[in-house]
Amino acid sequence: MVHTACSSMTSIACKNSTSALNASCARIVCHVLRDHGRNDFAGPRFMVRIAALAMHPLDTANRLGELKDAFGIGLCNITKCCTEVCPEDIHITDNAIIPLKERVAGAFYDPIAWVWRFVRGKKAGERQAD
Ligand code: SF4
Repeated sequence: MVHTACSSMTSIACKNSTSALNASCARIVCHVLRDHGRNDFAGPRFMVRIAALAMHPLDTANRLGELKDAFGIGLCNITKCCTEVCPEDIHITDNAIIPLKERVAGAFYDPIAWVWRFVRGKKAGERQAD
């Protein structure tokens, strides 16, 4: 469902765009990719896919380090451009990107959580119940 909708988002963005119609049309929507050329940011479509995986109740993978370092989630400045153009009215920023950003912030930048993990001998991103 989410994956299909985001494919639709890309398709609509491509249809409405007067620029090149190619496989990377999702870049048209996000100004971080389009205007700033930040290839270290994975983009909204990828973030929705990661959110769908991360929020599955059976998911146990820890992707927080990759989200922070490899996928550049910190580069999204929550302008909601991707949400505005989504033809399926998916709140991409509110329901996918922001929850992921909150998880990354909690894992790497919350000093109280850092001290708590240090005391318990846990790594950033490990689930609390573990
Ligand atoms: S909210 Fe983030 S991912 Fe969406 S268009 Fe803006 S910068 Fe890009």
